[in-house]
Amino acid sequence: MGALSNAVPVGTPIPVMEASTPVQRRYGVLPMPSLEWTPEIERATAHLYAKVKDVIPAVEWPFFAPYVHAINRLKKERNAVILAHNYQTPEIFHCVADVVGDSLQLAREAAKVDADVIVQCGVHFMAETSKLLSPEKTVLIPDAKAGCSLASSITGADVRLLKQRYPGVPVVTYVNSSADVKAETDICCTSSNAVKVVESLGVDRVIFLPDEYLGKYVASQTKVKLILWKGHCEVHERFTGEELRAYRDADPSIEIIAHPECPPDVLAEADFTGSTAHMIDWVKTRRPAKVLMVTECSMASNVQAEVPDVNFIKPCNLCPHMKRITLPKILSALVNMSEEVVIDPAIAERARLPIERMIALRA
Ligand code: SF4
Repeated sequence: MGALSNAVPVGTPIPVMEASTPVQRRYGVLPMPSLEWTPEIERATAHLYAKVKDVIPAVEWPFFAPYVHAINRLKKERNAVILAHNYQTPEIFHCVADVVGDSLQLAREAAKVDADVIVQCGVHFMAETSKLLSPEKTVLIPDAKAGCSLASSITGADVRLLKQRYPGVPVVTYVNSSADVKAETDICCTSSNAVKVVESLGVDRVIFLPDEYLGKYVASQTKVKLILWKGHCEVHERFTGEELRAYRDADPSIEIIAHPECPPDVLAEADFTGSTAHMIDWVKTRRPAKVLMVTECSMASNVQAEVPDVNFIKPCNLCPHMKRITLPKILSALVNMSEEVVIDPAIAERARLPIERMIALRA
C-alpha cells in the first residue's frame, strides 16, 4: 500500500460532493463532515482495495476509502444490509455491498435477509421490490430520484386500459416497473427468467410489459404470442448493430455478449444474449481473451475486478439513474435513516403477489 500513501497524503480532507436530504439540498448544506484519509483507514481498507485494484486507480482510493470504512462500520451499528445491483460502481459493488446481483437475485435475497434495515443501491423500483418483500424492514434508497426509463414508461392506469382491451389475457410484467404497475400484474419476470415465466402460464397469448425489446427477444424464444408495450431502457437502446460490426471489423477475435433489453439489430450481432447474471456466468466460465459486454458500463468493471485475465472492451453507456447512488449518499442514508421507501398498503398488498409468484416459480 506504499504507492497509495504516496498518491494522496494521509490526513488530507476528502471533499463531500453532494447533499442528501431534501432540506439539505434546498439550502445547499453538506450533510457530512469531510472525511480524512488516515493510516488507520488505509490499513483497515487494504483488503478491500486488493479486490478492486485492477479497476480503481491507486490515486482515487483515498477518496473512496474513508467512506467505505465509515459505511461498513455504521451498517453494523444499524443492523443494516446493503444490496447492490450489478450496475453499481466497483467501490460500492465490491467494497460496501453485502449482497450483489441482478434484479431477480436481489429480490430473492431481500425476501430472506436478516436485518432491520435494507439500503438499496440501485434504482427506485428495486427499493420498492425490497420493501414489498420485506414490509417489516426499513428500506432506504440513497437517492430517491434514481428512476428508470422503463419503469416510468407505463402507469397502473395504462395497464388497466390494456386489460380492458384484451380481457382475460394475463399480464406479465418485467420487475423494472413501479409498484402501481405490479399491482395490476399477474406475474413478474426478470430478463433471467422471462421465457420460463411466459411459458409457465399455459396460455397462447400474454400482455408483456413494459420493455418492447425484451418482449421481442422473448417472442423469438417461445411459441406464446406477446402483446407488447413500447417501453425502452435508455442505456441499452443506444447501442446499434452498426456500432458492434465496427468493433468486430476492427478486431475479429472479439466476443460480443448482449443484454436482451437491446434492440434486435444489436442482438443479431451478439455471440450470446443473456441477463446480467447470465452474462457474468458466461464470462467467468468461458474466460474469453477479449469480450465486449453490451450493457451498462460499470458491470464490465465489476466483472473485470474478478477476472483480470479477460480483456474487456467497454463502449461506456452509463445509466444516469444508477449513477445517482454514491458512497457519500449511502453514508448519508445510514446516518440520517433516509430516504425511506413507503408504499401505500393497498397497492403493496396487490403488488407483492406477482413478485412472490415469480419467486415461487423459480423455487
Ligand atoms: S439501465 Fe436501463 S433498465 Fe436499468 S435502471 Fe437504467 S434505465 Fe432502467
